[in-house]
Amino acid sequence: MAETAKYGIVIIGSGPGGYVAAIRAGQLGLKTLVVEKDDKFGGTCLHVGCIPTKDLLLNAEVYDYFKNAKEFGIVCKEFSIDWAAIQARKTKVVTKLAKGVEFLLKKNKVESIQGHGRWAGAGRITVTDAKGQTREIQVAKIVVATGSEAKTFPGFEPDGKTILTNKEILALKAVPKSMVIMGAGAVGVEFASIFHRFGTKVTVLEMLPHAVPLEDEEISVELEKSFRHQGIALETQAKVEKATKTANGVSVSYTRADGKPQAIEAETLLVAVGRSPNTQDVGLEKSRVKLERGFVKVDPYMQTDEPGVYAIGDLVASSPLLAHVASREGIVAVTHAAGKPVEPINYTQVPNCTYCEPEISSVGLTEHQAREAGHKVRIGKFPFAANSKATILGSREGFVKIVSEEKYGEILGVHMVGPRVTEMIAEAVVAMRLEGTVEDLACAIHPHPTLTEAVMEAAHAAHDWAIHF
Ligand SMILES: Cc1cc2nc3c(=O)[nH]c(=O)nc-3n(C[C@H](O)[C@H](O)[C@H](O)COP(=O)(O)OP(=O)(O)OC[C@H]3O[C@@H](n4cnc5c(N)ncnc54)[C@H](O)[C@@H]3O)c2cc1C
Repeated sequence: MAETAKYGIVIIGSGPGGYVAAIRAGQLGLKTLVVEKDDKFGGTCLHVGCIPTKDLLLNAEVYDYFKNAKEFGIVCKEFSIDWAAIQARKTKVVTKLAKGVEFLLKKNKVESIQGHGRWAGAGRITVTDAKGQTREIQVAKIVVATGSEAKTFPGFEPDGKTILTNKEILALKAVPKSMVIMGAGAVGVEFASIFHRFGTKVTVLEMLPHAVPLEDEEISVELEKSFRHQGIALETQAKVEKATKTANGVSVSYTRADGKPQAIEAETLLVAVGRSPNTQDVGLEKSRVKLERGFVKVDPYMQTDEPGVYAIGDLVASSPLLAHVASREGIVAVTHAAGKPVEPINYTQVPNCTYCEPEISSVGLTEHQAREAGHKVRIGKFPFAANSKATILGSREGFVKIVSEEKYGEILGVHMVGPRVTEMIAEAVVAMRLEGTVEDLACAIHPHPTLTEAVMEAAHAAHDWAIHF
């Protein structure tokens, strides 16, 4: 055990929760330290999550444009995928952004240490480096931001070649000929959209009755319809039982909705069945921090039950596993730790985005949840098929659906599936934050021709007054 140093706040983990918390702590004048076990900042989001997947989705979209070039009057006789170049661009994007995080931490006078951080008692943490040397650090406040890892099961351990999680799939040496994806949540359907467009024969197996099961049911149904139309095989109520490696890849056994056993063979299997919180081996077992199925319980200011210890991001119980949520939780935690006023997060106004093709975005209550909560509900819906920009783009699938309260028109939820809808949901978030009504959305003039007009039209549609439908 070596020297001690004193910090106002130490953040363990540098994902979008940790590094944003650190920057804000620096801005608030706290002597701040980030402890990161990897050799680069940015966490899951930057290295094996949000950023590399969105980069690959863009590559897949460009490839799609080439395939459909004729529709746009472009003659394109020879084109093909250069997988190594695709991977190189992805690495370039990730490296550039990681350098940006490093710069921002320095700019805000945040110090950093590489090593494994652990809570070591009131006001203390230890950091163990790659050589196994441990130093103790004194701190006033601690933010645990150690994130999550892909969930795996015995018999489904990733091997980097055949059985994959979000990490190994991003480092594949070639586009696989075929792939089974276990789980039709955000990660599963995004990778399905990437690899299907690169030419992989994709089969998605989902245990629940619908793909993207947390979304409004109509949105799930629309995505399922689109996947099948595109040629992505999707089986719901399919319970995967076993993965057996074969000469050519893997055989995946599952039980179908009708109870019949089934097996499918593919070159690769992606396990995308959720995330496990990184709450082991962080010293929390010796603290008063309470866990719920491994996730940390916190109060509205992200404080755990251990005085002076906060938790943010993917490891927080009942918090959606999203980068922007982790970042906001980081800001709430350090602002509170600095003794400054801060507003707790309203989790009913968190935008959810899934960057599959077609994209999905939503905020607030689904129609079912609104009715279950006892609201008298008015629905406004507008299809992209009737939106001029969607027609220009040649991407007319999907719709915008607004769930509002019947009497006063309060917006309870907004749900979208279609082209570029992940860029459109922030409008609904702001409207809900300002306690806006469908009338506000309908009367706010939206520019023409844009996809955003579909939001205005869906608001008009709540009173059966949509203009273009
Ligand atoms: C394939 C995929 C795609 C995704 N796409 C999106 C998306 O498009 N949009 C979105 O909002 N979310 C997306 N997510 C989710 C998003 O990545 C996470 O919600 C986000 O990264 C959580 O941030 P975090 O800071 O809590 O943890 P993480 O990003 O997981 O970071 C935790 C950090 O802590 C470090 N660490 C762990 N233990 C220790 C320790 N003991 N000591 C020191 N350091 C430690 C880790 O090395 C890591 O750097 C995606 C996730 C996946 C898997």
